[in-house]
Amino acid sequence: MTHTHFVPNHAGGACADTYERPLMTNFTDLGLNAALLKAVATEGYSVPTPIQVQAIPPALTGRDVQGIAQTGTGKTAAFALPILQRLGASKSRPAPKTCRALVLAPTRELAGQIAESFRVYGRHTGLTVALVFGGVPKPRQSRQLAAGVDILVATPGRLLDHLNDRAVRLDCVETLVLDEADHMLDLGFIIPIRRIAALTPAKRQTLLFTATMPPEIAKLADGLLRDPVHVAVAVAATTAERVTQHVMFVDTSAKRGALRDLLAKSKGRTLVFTRTKHGADRVVKYLDEYGVPSAAIHGNKSQGQRERALADFRSGSTRVLVATDIAARGIDVDDVTHVINFDLPNVPESYVHRIGRTARAGASGVAISLCGPDERPFLRGIEKLIRAKVPVLLAA
Ligand code: AMP
Repeated sequence: MTHTHFVPNHAGGACADTYERPLMTNFTDLGLNAALLKAVATEGYSVPTPIQVQAIPPALTGRDVQGIAQTGTGKTAAFALPILQRLGASKSRPAPKTCRALVLAPTRELAGQIAESFRVYGRHTGLTVALVFGGVPKPRQSRQLAAGVDILVATPGRLLDHLNDRAVRLDCVETLVLDEADHMLDLGFIIPIRRIAALTPAKRQTLLFTATMPPEIAKLADGLLRDPVHVAVAVAATTAERVTQHVMFVDTSAKRGALRDLLAKSKGRTLVFTRTKHGADRVVKYLDEYGVPSAAIHGNKSQGQRERALADFRSGSTRVLVATDIAARGIDVDDVTHVINFDLPNVPESYVHRIGRTARAGASGVAISLCGPDERPFLRGIEKLIRAKVPVLLAA
């Protein structure tokens, strides 16, 4: 089997470059249609996540995709958006008791979230979504299936029940998705999955996502996928265990004052992150007005300026360095005691990279995020990725 790598496979590595490309790619670059771009914009997503950058273009062309990505990486949109686009492009309506895309998920919670995502991203497409899972009566689900649906999201056991009841058939499936395949393995779903897949047309698109690749899943993928594109994003969530994290909810206009207060209390070397270059410059200017020396490091600065800023930060003559995500990749300074997120990153993995700048070489560190009212969704994405709530700090 030949494997096509759209980008190098970085799973699990300390890979500064993995995120470079996604940060410079926009949703408009991925080939998505206006209806989907509108829905994505409504969700407040400004840039696609790494898994989205890697998976969406090949999936749109009909390629099979094998993705290694955890929940929290944006993987749902990575498969939902191309499916919605492809189904929307062909005018055919689903026949009664059939579906055109089938998504299998291990738990009712995940299945519910996926169905909801399809509805949200597909709100301007007119495509229909049905959800079936166990533990609730079947008749309502059967009635939903009777007319036929574009997208069916299901847990394997209950889907098999409906197949046995002849409430649905799978011979019209154009795309099959297996989400959290390793979790499905843990729950004993491999045989049900094989049985279900065997009922779908051999000529179909298959997308498989998994957080890890145990041999059983590799074998399953080998049997179900044809010439897949392999995509992966680094498992980023565990690097920050020694970092004490806090979030402060503040109005956007109160962020500068909060930053000043925090800097007055933290005596150590502090790295401040902003989302944009202009934002970084504005923070430096503001701090300067209050007599706090700082320097900015970002893509608009010359190499000389960056080197100087870094050297001053290393030597301790500038205690505060204000950086954007991309510029911060090159920073390797040991004794950063504090990371302050003046803006929350819209890509959850960036948060982990940011706070990983402190607590280096076995030291401990503090990371404080200033979260404006419009940044709450970013915080939710981050908390999902790190699988923890960031404790709230009431005042600086
Ligand atoms: P998932 O990994 O699919 O469960 O997604 C994790 C979270 O990230 C969800 O809350 C999504 O709404 C959010 N999300 C997905 N894509 C993006 C994006 N491109 N920008 C910001 N947030 C996103």
